[in-house]
Amino acid sequence: MGKVVGIDLGTTNSVVAVMEGGKPVVIANSEGMRTTPSVVGFNKDGELVVGQMARRQAVLNPQNTYYGVKRFMGRKYPELTPESKQVPYTIRRDEYGSIKIKCPRLKKDFAPEEISAKILRKLAEEAERYLGEPVTGAVITVPAYFNDSQRQATRDAGRIAGLEVLRIINEPTAASLAYGLDQERSQKILVFDLGGGTFDVSVLEVGDGVFEVRATSGDTQLGGGDFDKRIVDWLAEQFIEQEGIDLRKADRQALQRLTEAAEKAKIELSGVSVTDINLPFITATEDGPKHIETRLTRPEFENLCGDLVSRLTRPIKRALNDARLTPVQIDEVVLVGGGTRMPMIKALVRSFIDKEPNENVNPDEVVAVGAAIQSGILAGEVKEILLLDVTPLSLGLETIGGVTKKLIPRNTTIPVRRSDIFSTGENNQTMVEVHVVQGEREMAKDNKSLGRFKLTGIPPAPRGIPQVQVAFDIDANGILQVTARDRTTGREQSVVVQGASTLSEGEINRMINEAAEFAEEDRQRRERIEKRNKAKALTDQALRRLKDVTLDFGTQFTSGYRRQIEALNAEIMESLDKDDERRLDRAQADLQDVLYELNREVRLQYDDEEDEGIFDSIRRTLVGDDDDDYPYTPRDSSYGNDYGTPRYPERQDYGQPQPRYDERRYDERQTYGSPAPRYERNDRYDDQYDEWEEDRPSPRSRRPSPEPRRYPPKDSDTYYTRDRSRRIPKENQWDEEDDDWF
Ligand code: AMP
Repeated sequence: MGKVVGIDLGTTNSVVAVMEGGKPVVIANSEGMRTTPSVVGFNKDGELVVGQMARRQAVLNPQNTYYGVKRFMGRKYPELTPESKQVPYTIRRDEYGSIKIKCPRLKKDFAPEEISAKILRKLAEEAERYLGEPVTGAVITVPAYFNDSQRQATRDAGRIAGLEVLRIINEPTAASLAYGLDQERSQKILVFDLGGGTFDVSVLEVGDGVFEVRATSGDTQLGGGDFDKRIVDWLAEQFIEQEGIDLRKADRQALQRLTEAAEKAKIELSGVSVTDINLPFITATEDGPKHIETRLTRPEFENLCGDLVSRLTRPIKRALNDARLTPVQIDEVVLVGGGTRMPMIKALVRSFIDKEPNENVNPDEVVAVGAAIQSGILAGEVKEILLLDVTPLSLGLETIGGVTKKLIPRNTTIPVRRSDIFSTGENNQTMVEVHVVQGEREMAKDNKSLGRFKLTGIPPAPRGIPQVQVAFDIDANGILQVTARDRTTGREQSVVVQGASTLSEGEINRMINEAAEFAEEDRQRRERIEKRNKAKALTDQALRRLKDVTLDFGTQFTSGYRRQIEALNAEIMESLDKDDERRLDRAQADLQDVLYELNREVRLQYDDEEDEGIFDSIRRTLVGDDDDDYPYTPRDSSYGNDYGTPRYPERQDYGQPQPRYDERRYDERQTYGSPAPRYERNDRYDDQYDEWEEDRPSPRSRRPSPEPRRYPPKDSDTYYTRDRSRRIPKENQWDEEDDDWF
């Protein structure tokens, strides 16, 4: 079994961390960043790009670049608010009402799970690169307020990415795990998490080795992006006033640029009190190009966001109520998510709890660190931590008259099993339909429908006589299994609730296969590009070599080779154009043979030259060969670099007998046609390059990779003393005697 990583799959950014030597380590991606934008795109060649690269192409290619997809996970199209549909790419509803994301470049649609899977895959690959071993499993975090469908969708995304999702944990729980490592005494913590797209608040009780989530609340449709949108709207309104054009509707690229500028301005306003927003050439009218040049102050920005800040208060109150705590009883406030860097947010938290928020933990990384710790707990690496979690919303089923009967109230510690007895509403009813719902509303239709299933074969009997026992079983991931059993016949029907918005098993399998297929396609495409690059490198190299040898020995010496090399180069270029692989292979092999022959003859010539002795050598140099008709211009700088020594001075040195190149390098490179050194270096080729790069550092290869941040070691004896196995609290254990009758 490979390594298990912790992944914070964020709306805006994602982070991967792993336990190494008992400590969580955040892994930097290959671009050197510790957070990876949760952006997926397809570039103009239809190639997949994820993270920073995808983010970069967003302006030019907005229709094929997807961000904020977490908001669509596990949701039905009709559940979306008009605002959440306002994205520069196209989303649509399929025949089942599910959300599909259009990809014009590939002419296909993706489920949100597939897009998220690509982010997870990238993070797993970054971890594999760092660890040097396969990553097969992951602990993935979700907002505490995610319902069952959203959790299922996240788990499905992991599966599509080829990862075994060992646990889904709540983000604030993860944060508290990371944070709690440093805590000694027992205390009550309020975790306030304002990410890019979601807001969560949780109350935890931490101490004696136990992390217990007492209550969670939040808003899945509120995050840093909404603050950006306020600035976008403000800019757009100003523009309408001045130019009469609504940039949000006029053009997708303009909207994308506005969004980026708005986020930049927001981030700047966390540090300074006024910021300039300049967007040249934002659009053009008949009068010519139009620009945005304006200034936003922090008070103005705060004014624009007043209602968003008020929306944050309700979940705080609710979480405190549910935890039966008052603000003064909170010992610590932990801030999570980039959005908490805004001064107005800190002020809000301070005013509510009357405590200075704790900012010791890096808000961008704390969740991934916690997820890694959880993976350590599962792997037995981290001992003596017991993690208790709660259900974020009540779970129940629809009964007569469409009323919800709650079986598991919200904030019940999980894992949990609860059951109840139901009966028929009609005489001789032989079938009951179990409609599972999640939410706090009284009427089932107002809650989230998680699924329906039927129990058939109930023996005919007067209404109210049959006894159907319905049991809800929530596992440690917060995923629900519902079982209905007819007590008379023992007939049983059981489903893992696939929320109405999540994918069917068939769809998931199709997507897993597609992802694998895509990986194969990607690999083939990459190989084709590499092959093409190698072929081009070989032709360049042949020409350079020809130039060298012509300089040294004259055109007569090389004329035969020149003909062959030029013909083969043309052949290579033509087969590249025509994508004729076999012809390309043949031409490359022939070119290598020619180079080999040329080099062999050069070596013989040098041997002869040495034999000629110094006087002959001086003569040759003074008289020269017929260099005058040498058709190339003097070498460029890369030429000198390639062989390490400038040549003209050597030539004027009269007769130094040494070959003017490093034969070892020359052999390796010329004979086997490995890529030319001016190549864009690719880390995958490190091994191939290392040998001859040892004495010629390339700026990229020598740049130290960012040192992973190591968190302080935990002193487990001091902080964690409980039994290390998971415990089901007494009140949640199955107890037939407690069953309700309905
Ligand atoms: P997260 O999902 O935790 O990565 O949070 C990302 C959100 O935090 C995005 O909306 C960012 O724009 C926002 N963010 C990051 N840094 C800052 C900052 N210094 N001030 C305000 N918002 C920020």
